[in-house]
Amino acid sequence: MVLQEILDSLRVITKSTVSEEASLVDEQGKWPENSIKALQKAGLGGLLVSKEFGGQGQGMYALARACEILGEVSASTALCFGMHCVGSAVIGAKPSDYQKEEFLRPIAAGEHLTTLALSEPGTGAHFYFPQTQLLALSEEEFLLNGSKSFVTNGTKADSYVISTLGVDPDASRDEFSCFVLRNNTENLEWGPDWKGLGMRGNSSRTLFLKDIKVPAANLLGDAGDQLWYVFQVVAPYFLTAMAGTYLGIAQAAFNEARQHLVQRSYRHNGSTLSQNTLLQHRLGTLWSKIERTRQLLYHATREGESGEPTAILPILSSKAEVATCSVEVVNEAMTLMGGIAYSQNSRMDVLLRDARAAHVMGPTTDILYTWLGRALLEQPILDS
Ligand SMILES: Cc1cc2nc3c(=O)[nH]c(=O)nc-3n(C[C@H](O)[C@H](O)[C@H](O)COP(=O)(O)OP(=O)(O)OC[C@H]3O[C@@H](n4cnc5c(N)ncnc54)[C@H](O)[C@@H]3O)c2cc1C
Repeated sequence: MVLQEILDSLRVITKSTVSEEASLVDEQGKWPENSIKALQKAGLGGLLVSKEFGGQGQGMYALARACEILGEVSASTALCFGMHCVGSAVIGAKPSDYQKEEFLRPIAAGEHLTTLALSEPGTGAHFYFPQTQLLALSEEEFLLNGSKSFVTNGTKADSYVISTLGVDPDASRDEFSCFVLRNNTENLEWGPDWKGLGMRGNSSRTLFLKDIKVPAANLLGDAGDQLWYVFQVVAPYFLTAMAGTYLGIAQAAFNEARQHLVQRSYRHNGSTLSQNTLLQHRLGTLWSKIERTRQLLYHATREGESGEPTAILPILSSKAEVATCSVEVVNEAMTLMGGIAYSQNSRMDVLLRDARAAHVMGPTTDILYTWLGRALLEQPILDS
């Protein structure tokens, strides 16, 4: 499919299955199974998988658009789908022949769901300093020890792209390996379902890894790739998926506010809120805020795809800016919509709770602005 067909297909699925499932996803914290299956069935599970392995061969721009479309209706679904896509991009960055057949082809065929499991209880927002250890038992087998927190798609995924310390026991703390772990690996232990304020359907859980034996063939990339993975693969795709999702939330809040201004009329003079100059001005300001953030995100993804050496700057900036935009727009939309928006379980209630995750999902807003400043000052990006 060409990009336009992909986006059209996404819109159709979002209007039907995603929209039908959205309230259950939020109210009951239901993982969006029907929506993810529909996306996979339409060939979108392989959005970022190379055409060579049956995927759609798309990149960051398509990921941003896909998450934005989904996020406008169900941010949890966008997050679950986005994390799968980011996981598939990490697997696809330097796949071995085995990984192409065992992971990329099934992902493209819609038969395999993966996800990104980087965060750890011990290092929190500093997800790029994993403490999980990967020790070589032999040339064919490793031993995994550690834990991963907030694993989106929890037990629903078929595999997890996890970060670990370098395989070498003397590796320094910023040496980083990526590994794909199957969910049927023996002795995986899961924490209870995480009950989030928002993003309730993402089925996030903690994964405990205690003396887990795993095949060496599942190590991604080569020794020494480490930070290359963080800044060239994980961060750009992760940031793009998140930014698209939260932009969708901002757009949804804007739509709600606009509709309220058009429909709300007063009996005392027969006017609608859409005729009020102050509110017209405030809505115009909101639209501008969303649109300039959207253009920054689209620009960042295009720069990233064309391999511009400075692309990391707009990429870092776009997720931080989208997070700020999303929280501010939802807040302002709530004000514009009066008491009705403040009702429990209203659409604005969902959007407000979902948007609030934007600042704390890694890389967090504060860390992104710090990285951006460091990059501009030619300082090392990661903490020493
Ligand atoms: C809904 C949801 C889904 C998630 N899904 C995933 C997932 O699928 N995969 C995954 O790997 N992770 C996931 N996460 C984890 C997330 O990405 C963050 O890594 C995690 O929430 C942050 O860790 P923490 O809560 O321990 O925050 P803490 O580490 O306690 O940080 C608290 C605050 O301090 C700030 N802070 C810390 N250090 C600095 C610093 N040096 N400079 C400036 N500010 C700093 C942070 O920015 C943050 O605002 C998810 C989180 C949520 C809420």
